[in-house]
Amino acid sequence: MKALVKKEQKEGLWLEEVPVPKIGINDVLIQVLKTSICGTDVHIYKWDPWAQQTIRTPMVIGHEFVGRIVEMGSNVHDFKAGDIVSAEGHVVCGRCRNCLAGRRHLCHSPRGIGVNRDGAFAEYISVPVTNVWYCDTSIDLEVLSCFDPLGNAVHTALTYRVIGEDVLITGAGPIGCMATAVARQIGARFIVVTDINPDRLALARKMGATKTLDPRSESLDAVQRELGMKEGFDVGMEMSGSPSALTDMLASMAHGGKVALLGLLPPTQVDWNLVIFNGLTLKGIYGRLMYETWYNTTMLIQCGLDIAPLITHRFDYTDYEKGFSAMLSGKACKVILNWAT
Ligand code: NAD
Ligand code: ZN
Repeated sequence: MKALVKKEQKEGLWLEEVPVPKIGINDVLIQVLKTSICGTDVHIYKWDPWAQQTIRTPMVIGHEFVGRIVEMGSNVHDFKAGDIVSAEGHVVCGRCRNCLAGRRHLCHSPRGIGVNRDGAFAEYISVPVTNVWYCDTSIDLEVLSCFDPLGNAVHTALTYRVIGEDVLITGAGPIGCMATAVARQIGARFIVVTDINPDRLALARKMGATKTLDPRSESLDAVQRELGMKEGFDVGMEMSGSPSALTDMLASMAHGGKVALLGLLPPTQVDWNLVIFNGLTLKGIYGRLMYETWYNTTMLIQCGLDIAPLITHRFDYTDYEKGFSAMLSGKACKVILNWAT
C-alpha cells in the first residue's frame, strides 16, 4: 500500500510503498478514506526539535482520519466490514490506575497513532478495537476526518460552564476556531478571540466570535470596555501555545475565572500572584475524553455545530506536498487529503 512515511531524519515526508499493516485478534483494519493534516504532522514534516526527540524513523505519520472497516481480528464482534469509523489517536495501556478507573485520557503511558506507532496517512491502518469510534454517517466525511482536533476543542470548551459567560480564546488556529463555534453554540455571551494572523481572525468571526483582535496592536482592556465588560472574562481557553497570550489571558480574567490550557507552551514565566489573589482555576487539557468527547462532538453536530467553513483546502494524497505547503503558509485552516472514495 501507499503511505506517507517519515523515512529520514530531516525535513520532508516520503510517499512510499509499505506492507498493509497486520491485525492482531483485538484489532481492526481500516481502509482510510480521508485524512486531515494536524499541526503535529507539520512539526514532524519540518523535523523540529520536538519531532527529533519524539519520532522514531521510519514511521507512517497522521492521526486525523475517517475510513471504512475492511477486516476484524477474531476477538472483534461489535463492528463489521463496511462500517464508517474514525479512531481515538491515543492508544492507552488499559492497566494503569487511571485506565482501570475509566479515566483513559489520563493514561500513564499512552501511545500516539502516527507519532509512536504507524499512523493514518496510508491506504490502510490497523488500530485496537478499543480505539475505534463508530461514525454517524449523516455527518460529512471531511468533517468526520477532523473529529480528533474538533474533539480537542469540544473537550476544552465543555470543561467549564460557558452558558451566559464571557469567554476569551487566545489562538484562532483550527482548534481555537472550532472552540469558538462550540462556545457560541453552547450559549456563551461574548466570545473574544485573539490571534496574530488576520486570516485566522476572519475565520474566528465566521465561527461566531463577538470580537477578534491582534494583541500586538489592540488591547484586551479596550475590547472589554467597548463591550461594556467590567470585571474580566469568566472562562479562558488558551489555544495558541504563546507565552504572551497566556500572560494577557491571566491578566484579563474575572476574579474566580476559569482557564483551560490546551496550547502547548514552552517553559513560561507566570505571575502566580494573579492566579492566587484573583482565585483563578487553571486546568491542563490533553486529548479528548474517551469516549464522552466523541459522543458530545457527534451530538453537537447533530444539534447544528458546523465546522465545514474551516476546511479550506483539499488534495489527493499524492499531492501531499501541496497540502503541507498550504499548512506552512499560515493561509490554510484544515487541509484534507483524499485517499479513497
Ligand atoms: P495552530 O498552531 O494552528 O494555532 C495556533 C494559533 O495561535 C495560530 O493561528 C497562531 O497565529 C496563534 N498565535 C500565535 N501567537 C499568538 C499570540 N501571541 N496571541 C494569540 N494567538 C497567537 O494550532 P492548533 O492546531 O489550532 O492547536 C492549538 C494549540 O493546541 C497548539 O499549541 C497545539 O500544539 C495544541 N494542541 C494541544 C493538544 C492537547 O491535547 N493539549 C492537542 C492538539 C493541539
Ligand atoms: Zn493507562
